Amino acid sequence: MEYRHFIGNAWKAADNGESLDVIDPSTGEPFAAIARGNAADIDLAVCAAQGAMGEALDGPWAKLSPVERSNLLFAYAKAVLDHADELAQLEARDTGKALKTARTDAAVLARYLQYYAGCVDKLHGETLPYTTGFTVLTVREPIGVTGHIIPWNYPMQIYGRSVGASLAAGNACVVKPAEDASLSILRLAEIAAETGFPAGAINVVTGLGGEAGAALSANEGIRHISFTGSTATGALVGRTAAERHCPSVLELGGKSPQLVFDDADLDEALPVILNAIIQNAGQTCSAGSRLLVQRGIYETVIERLSARFEAMRTGPSSMDLDMGPLVNKKQQTRVRAMVEDAEAQGIRVAARGKIAVEASRNGYFQEAVLFRDVPPQSRLAQEEVFGPVLAVMPFDDEAEAVKLANGTNYGLVAGVWTRDGSRGLRLARKLQAGQVFVNNYGAGGGVELPFGGVKASGHGREKGFEALYGFTSLKTIAVKHG
Ligand code: NAD
Repeated sequence: MEYRHFIGNAWKAADNGESLDVIDPSTGEPFAAIARGNAADIDLAVCAAQGAMGEALDGPWAKLSPVERSNLLFAYAKAVLDHADELAQLEARDTGKALKTARTDAAVLARYLQYYAGCVDKLHGETLPYTTGFTVLTVREPIGVTGHIIPWNYPMQIYGRSVGASLAAGNACVVKPAEDASLSILRLAEIAAETGFPAGAINVVTGLGGEAGAALSANEGIRHISFTGSTATGALVGRTAAERHCPSVLELGGKSPQLVFDDADLDEALPVILNAIIQNAGQTCSAGSRLLVQRGIYETVIERLSARFEAMRTGPSSMDLDMGPLVNKKQQTRVRAMVEDAEAQGIRVAARGKIAVEASRNGYFQEAVLFRDVPPQSRLAQEEVFGPVLAVMPFDDEAEAVKLANGTNYGLVAGVWTRDGSRGLRLARKLQAGQVFVNNYGAGGGVELPFGGVKASGHGREKGFEALYGFTSLKTIAVKHG
């Protein structure tokens, strides 16, 4: 199967006629090809999106009333649910994720579209008190054409939270999915066209990050860019956008800590802690990848978690085990190297999961690994692994726990497990993170909850109503009437 770009509600061949293989991570074998987009393809997509907006917000997409826009988004959510199984199969094959994870992703995508469909007619400005003789008001207008660079770990979910919010705010979108995970996004654009979205409202250009992605972030017609991915690429995209005064939302990596105190309910905490690192084989920006445990329960937690890690099974996505393979060879090599490096430094492995015997030798499999007594300044404690690898370390008191938790460059999510309500709230205020969960941990979830980072985890917020503001341009209108 050879996929093309989806521009202006039609399939378009790549300008240069080139394509990229799509590899099944469970087997290492190519099974399809996508178009290798370049700057000319991005130009075409931006033109199509500008056409949908029109010169003076009079294009076929921009002229829809809020209720018409809302109805289309609700219809889109329903169409996604109708095609949920097809979308999940496509994304599971393309990314290697376990089918159950892909099914959840399709459901969460539909939920984003429903949420933002419900927001369209609640997105309003204010009237402001000003000098006598004036009436002053603000209106929230669409920004224009927005660019969306999507990673390979949760293509459907990230499309939902980013494109869903932008469409709700009235913008037209140009999407560049990851080269390793384009198929569900292409199908989603086609489903949008079938649902009745006007040509140009949603356009997808596939290709490499350094080509199609770089061209998207540099394109003068893109008035807002939303990027999810690595900290290094995020800095590049943010810089390119800043040079032409284009606002950006950067949702980057994390090394998110979970703090477990002596008084925590371990029966409640441990399954959540495990899921936060093995979900999507650890390829989650908000993965709970550092576990800080108070010394009094340290050995108990290691023992109980070890049993769970040893029971973890990894296999092809079609087997639907605890984990599928990693997304590509590069990720597998990277994760393996980090595990080997940690072992070479003498960091102890407390437990390992298993790879199913049915798994192909050519697939990109990585078993779950639990490391204990991890030195806080080691690479394993400081750098994002992006695999099913958990670094556990002990602490004595609250002050030390906060210092350890805040002691990396990242600040995306944190979790606190304690029965002491005051401590939960106190620590929530002290932890440097965009989201803090007390006695729960929401890796990836929470459509309604603003999400984003501090420090090297990025800036701007996605999800919830907050995301909508970022996709609008606020205009102040001051009328002197005497
Ligand atoms: P990446 O950041 O390079 O890729 C993410 C997206 O950016 C993809 O769509 C890619 O095509 C695009 N891209 C790449 N270079 C670009 C450029 N110069 N200009 C514009 N767009 C560009 O990530 P990666 O190389 O696929 O993975 C490397 C590491 O990034 C992972 O090991 C992981 O640590 C991290 N990562 C984080 C997330 C997240 O959700 N925060 C997602 C994916 C990867």
